[in-house]
Amino acid sequence: MRVYNFSAGPSQLPEAVLEKAGAEIADTNGTGQSVMEMSHRSKDFKPIIEKAEVLLRELMGVPANYRVLFLQGGASLQFSMIPLNLAAGKSDSPETATSYVDTGIWAKKAAEEGSKYTRAVIRASSKDKAYSYIPAAPAPGADDAYYHITVNNTVVGTAWAELPDAGTVPLVGDISSCILSQPLDVARFGVLYAGAQKNLGPAGTTIVIIRDDLIGRAPAWVPAMLRYDIHAEEGSMYNTPPCYGIYIIGLVLEWLKNSGGAQAAGRRNREKAELLYSYLEKSPRFFSPIEKPSRSLMNIPFVLRENDADKRAAAESRFLKEAAAAGLVNLAGHRLVGGFRASLYNAMPIEGVKALITFMEGFEKTL
Ligand SMILES: *Cc1c(COP(=O)(O)O)cnc(C)c1O
Repeated sequence: MRVYNFSAGPSQLPEAVLEKAGAEIADTNGTGQSVMEMSHRSKDFKPIIEKAEVLLRELMGVPANYRVLFLQGGASLQFSMIPLNLAAGKSDSPETATSYVDTGIWAKKAAEEGSKYTRAVIRASSKDKAYSYIPAAPAPGADDAYYHITVNNTVVGTAWAELPDAGTVPLVGDISSCILSQPLDVARFGVLYAGAQKNLGPAGTTIVIIRDDLIGRAPAWVPAMLRYDIHAEEGSMYNTPPCYGIYIIGLVLEWLKNSGGAQAAGRRNREKAELLYSYLEKSPRFFSPIEKPSRSLMNIPFVLRENDADKRAAAESRFLKEAAAAGLVNLAGHRLVGGFRASLYNAMPIEGVKALITFMEGFEKTL
């Protein structure tokens, strides 16, 4: 029996994709080989990576003057690659200014890496209220090399409802947990990046979408594997790319296209999230700790109303156990935040959200 998997990542994938991948695991596209066995430079693999890129460009509306790269190292390596490629000077003197907005754990980590190679300035932060809102976006410095934001904050469950105006400074967006969850205007950004394991496929592949003019700015000392210019010149094949991950991403994108693309995904995701948020508004025992205008469609944390810490801990652990027994798994909040969190990525059907709400209504009555 398949469960409803509310994990923040790696997370649930469309069942149709898993079935197709399973059916052709030993013989893909009539080649007599698994994708895992193919040379990445062979005529058999070429259509697989091309299909993933074509579909991604089509579904996201990526303009022609942007490159799509399939890299490794997770979104976390982009925290370093962005400053190294867009703003680094001499290896021992971080003098170029860059802008960051501190909206939670991932944003903070990005800024920490940025501060190793640049003069990273935190332009705004929502730390004062446990990151429960997106702060008003200040303008970047006129000479900043880029302006970094985390578009959807996976851990706390906030999202930028409106993108900040970065002027002529390239906006850099971490879209790890919201890529293709709804339409996004790629042209507003200089660079977008996402680990695949939240909304697009298995862990191990990182997608980078970068405007042409931002490629080729890395100083000579930056290692080859960390350079956008080399990965772009080599078509993501400077070394062996994560072939199987790219193949699965292609299948997920095909599934998304057949189910109406980003627009339709956005409608479905809004409907799912509104269902859960409106239940939380009415619930006598659970609530959302996130300010309304900043709420994420993808990651929805919720907390039990219970002032007695011991009673709350006991109720939380019983909730997680009983939910898992009912086929609703991975509902614990992030280890640094606590409480609960339901991640409703593209592959989570509305039936999963309804099942969760029904379970929560029943659980409330036992308190
Ligand atoms: C998960 C996540 C990351 C880290 O991704 P890795 O691929 O594990 O490095 C970074 N940013 C955001 C917004 C995330 O959700």
